[in-house]
Amino acid sequence: MPLIFIPRRQIIEMLYQGRKTPKHNIMTRYIDAHCHLQNNTSQNVTDVISSAVAQNIVGFVCNATNPDDWDSVLNLGKMCASVYGCIGIHPWHIDNLTPNWHTRMIEILAQHPELMIGEIGLDNSRPNIDAQQKVFMAQMDIAHIMGRVVHIHCVHAIDKMLHIFRHRHGMMPPAIVMHSFSGPANVIDRLINEYNAYFSYSPMIHDSRRRGMRAALCATPNNRILAESDCENPLRVLDVVNTISEVKSTDVAQMADIIYSNTHQALKNGPTEPNTFIIGK
Ligand SMILES: [Zn+2]
Repeated sequence: MPLIFIPRRQIIEMLYQGRKTPKHNIMTRYIDAHCHLQNNTSQNVTDVISSAVAQNIVGFVCNATNPDDWDSVLNLGKMCASVYGCIGIHPWHIDNLTPNWHTRMIEILAQHPELMIGEIGLDNSRPNIDAQQKVFMAQMDIAHIMGRVVHIHCVHAIDKMLHIFRHRHGMMPPAIVMHSFSGPANVIDRLINEYNAYFSYSPMIHDSRRRGMRAALCATPNNRILAESDCENPLRVLDVVNTISEVKSTDVAQMADIIYSNTHQALKNGPTEPNTFIIGK
């Protein structure tokens, strides 16, 4: 009986006939560039991480917001190698700090060279901006001296923040991540060239009324874009990547790969190397 030879391509086509083309290629991976896994109260965090990993979300940049949640973030990092921990004091949580908060922060960072600093920043919609600036500047000093990437919250305070950066005379962290960035777009190039900035976009990008955020995304070079859930559920980062790809008119799998590699680039602790940043499109 003669053997019937069916070309391999034909077999594959037969197997896949009628199936939908997968939306993302199989190798596409994601990193949630800003989340708060420690805030999970309704679900076991191990289950949250497992569900995210099942969707190829393989990294979680977990930001603390005050000294009371630093231990939770540290423990998540110890429990799961794909959790990248950041400790810091958010501008909403600067009241009632103990006088030695920075001593404890430095001790923890010294013991954990992989930790970054976040979430820190300035929020002009809050009344205590002067006090915020003091806490922010102290954390920027620590970030510079200890060579840690910082994750920044900046709301209606970009001018104040740029003023602070300018007066640091190069004493900056190795990189800054502007979390849930909403503009203005005209500071992007300067932040990249002078401070090695990356711009992370949050689920707020879905809101088409947020024109400033969309304009900022349009103006952000592809190699500086990150994506984040900004909450305790990293699954939300998938839709953010989809929307970014639509706004940037780029294939979604390609955009996801770019964002994945950007995030690895951004998360490198170490001494600051000035004048080595290049803008690319
Ligand atoms: Zn946050």
